[in-house]
Amino acid sequence: MKPRVAIIGRPNVGKSTLFNRLVGKRVALVDDRPGVTRDRREGEAELIGLKFTAIDTAGFEDDDAATLPGRMRAQTQAAVDVADVALFVVDARAGVVPLDAEIGRWLRESTTPVILIANKAEGRSGESGILDAWSLGLGEPVAISAEHGDGMVDLFNELLPLIEKAPARSADAESPPPEGEDLEDEERPAGPLKLAIVGRPNAGKSTLVNKMLGEQRLITGPEAGITRDSIAVEWEWNGQAVRLIDTAGLRRKSKVEDKLEKLSAADTQRAIDFAEVVVLLLDATRGLEAQDLRIADKIFEEGRAMLIVLNKWDVAEDQSKLFNGVRAALDEGFSQVRGVPLLTVSAATGKGLDTMLKVAFETRDAWSRRVTTGQLNRWFERAVEANPPPAPGGKRIKLRYATQTATRPPGFVIFGTRVDQLPESYRRYLINGLRRDLDFGAVPVRLTLRSSK
Ligand code: GDP
Ligand code: GDP
Repeated sequence: MKPRVAIIGRPNVGKSTLFNRLVGKRVALVDDRPGVTRDRREGEAELIGLKFTAIDTAGFEDDDAATLPGRMRAQTQAAVDVADVALFVVDARAGVVPLDAEIGRWLRESTTPVILIANKAEGRSGESGILDAWSLGLGEPVAISAEHGDGMVDLFNELLPLIEKAPARSADAESPPPEGEDLEDEERPAGPLKLAIVGRPNAGKSTLVNKMLGEQRLITGPEAGITRDSIAVEWEWNGQAVRLIDTAGLRRKSKVEDKLEKLSAADTQRAIDFAEVVVLLLDATRGLEAQDLRIADKIFEEGRAMLIVLNKWDVAEDQSKLFNGVRAALDEGFSQVRGVPLLTVSAATGKGLDTMLKVAFETRDAWSRRVTTGQLNRWFERAVEANPPPAPGGKRIKLRYATQTATRPPGFVIFGTRVDQLPESYRRYLINGLRRDLDFGAVPVRLTLRSSK
């Protein structure tokens, strides 16, 4: 699903330092399969909101110098072959040495795009090495300090267009997708809609799940295995696959004593983790309560697409007053996502379930969508023109350009100067505009502001 970026270079140039900076605390897994993939570390990396899988090829420090180039070549080749982009790191303090030149030749033969990086360039000590690096014939070197974090915006600017061009990948890169299932495509998500139903005890979750499954043709399952305490059930709605994440809290419902048991926080968390779209189910006879807002917050924090669904509509009294009351309470108590879809269903009769699933699919589309750079910048220019950023202390905050760095949920970065002084209200203005003008609906949209220098 994520593009892959390989970090290449001779020992000691700072590959691992860069890898650690990009991957941070996220667990790096050591790939210890025998053969050329030996020593390859992979981790989920993030650079200013840009998400990718980083591949570190370090690990030859103690090796015998005589056989090093040969084995490095195999290692480098293997990493570059699976990567969408290669970051070729040289040491700006040491300048270009013969092994760098040799690696440069290998990379020029490869079809994988290369970004040349002159590391250890903090202060002025790297200046001559940066000039030297031009001699590798791989274009302008990006000067960074992996140790201090300098140059990360420049690296981002080089990486972004290459990552945007990377082909969409399968959700699970380790195994090929099952027959007949399309590759995961960011524009129009394929694969089953991963759906979770959460809510307070007695909201009607089990009734809803049973109704949906009772009326549908099961494709697979129920099968154990996503985690110890949850199962997935796959079925079809209008010819589209839905994978429902069912948790222990739902299944144990059949036993009388468990009626008292709450859907634990851990169950809710697991369901949210696995879902693309989360239905927060409310009991219409009780309205919206504080605990519901806490669950909504959690879903939002995790960046999942959300629908709020009022159940037991068959026995709800004074329906329009009730609906408007919940709508108003949501907009007030849950202002992060104004206009989150609010629907009504009856799990008992099945009324409203078709609409709920239709909206769930539409919400996933929005959640997965990437807008074009052109669309985004037209929106951005208009938004800034209509309502220019303030000028604290008489100096105007400048916003220069916007770029989408992520999907599922959509993430954006806006670059400018003195952005740290931008008031929260202006940020809100931008986020709401992104959502409204670019048709993201109520999907949680992330916005990061960065100083471009
Ligand atoms: P690798 O063998 O290419 O993975 O290199 P390492 O990441 O292990 O780094 C080799 C050495 O260079 C270590 O001592 C690092 O602390 C140092 N190093 C890495 N990045 C920088 C940097 O940006 N500036 C400076 N001055 N030293 C760095
Ligand atoms: P859970 O704890 O969220 O799984 O809730 P249950 O599915 O066990 O439902 C709690 C109670 O609400 C049960 O007595 C259900 O029969 C009832 N219930 C669930 N959905 C509806 C509905 O749409 N209409 C009505 N009238 N009752 C419902």
